[in-house]
Amino acid sequence: MRAVLFDRFGETPRVETVEAPAAAPGGVVVRVEATGLCRSDWHGWMGHDDGISLPHVPGHELAGVIESVGSGVQRWHVGDRVTVPFICACGRCEQCAQGNQQVCDNQEQPGFTHWGSFAEFVAIAEADVNLIALPDDLDFVSAAALGCRFATAYRAVMSQGRVQPGEWVAVHGCGGVGLSAIMIAVAAGAGVVAVDVSPAALALAEGLGAVPISGTGDVASAVKEATDGGAHLSLDAYGSRLTSANSIRSLRKRGRHVQVGLMLADQAIGEVPMDAVVAGELEILGSHGMAAHEYPAMLDAIVSGRIDPRILVGRTIGLDEAPRALAELDASAHPGMTVIEP
Ligand SMILES: [Zn+2]
Ligand SMILES: [Zn+2]
Repeated sequence: MRAVLFDRFGETPRVETVEAPAAAPGGVVVRVEATGLCRSDWHGWMGHDDGISLPHVPGHELAGVIESVGSGVQRWHVGDRVTVPFICACGRCEQCAQGNQQVCDNQEQPGFTHWGSFAEFVAIAEADVNLIALPDDLDFVSAAALGCRFATAYRAVMSQGRVQPGEWVAVHGCGGVGLSAIMIAVAAGAGVVAVDVSPAALALAEGLGAVPISGTGDVASAVKEATDGGAHLSLDAYGSRLTSANSIRSLRKRGRHVQVGLMLADQAIGEVPMDAVVAGELEILGSHGMAAHEYPAMLDAIVSGRIDPRILVGRTIGLDEAPRALAELDASAHPGMTVIEP
């Protein structure tokens, strides 16, 4: 099969012919029809994720068709249209038993713990736990756009963030997760302010119904002014020391901060203003992906037209364009999501 492969961290990947995966017992192989390009792929390629062994094929936001089924799989058949959460769970640990597969103790992530979906085929373990059937009228590109950032934003806003109609939501960082969160919060009836340093990203946020705020300068004061005293719910959708501290300082009393952007490398340890946390009884929450069993509510909202991940897709590219797109992601001139169609 053709796949995007790299031998060294930070070295431009290449498209190569490699051996296609086989379905493990309990697992499947999916023929990839669409796969999103995500900042996490860039972090992995840069060597910020110590779970990756070389050579490596990135890619974790996939949608496609089941190509082959391993022994013992009960619920799935060749030809089924599917997607997966980027965190694939074991189905057996304490977290899985409680329905919290998104923090499974034995989790696998395609494109991190094993070869991912920047390829014609990808192996997925524990198919009965992890696969999600795609509704007939949801296309593969939209489904790939759900896989990580949209689903992550959905759980962060709806489940962890517990958004209520009429609340103010602040979204710090208007990349894929941030724009998804804006759309979901607006659909939930919240007022939304969006913060970013990029005018192009802010224009997209404004188009989704958010009040744009420049990420340069005193962000917390600007958010408090725009929200009549501070956000009820604030998300750091970027993942940095600065944006997480800005998010916490943007809250009104009793507000909820949700850390949804990954904090990696030299940004791993953030600065939490504990004086504000105790004085305002703030809640500090994390949100990490979304379990497969939470997808149906989100898919219902998409099929009914209340939210539409497709409008977040900035462009689609072929596998041959993927190496350059990955290498240039950090300085990308392409706002919105890039989806690869192998
Ligand atoms: Zn992702
Ligand atoms: Zn588990």
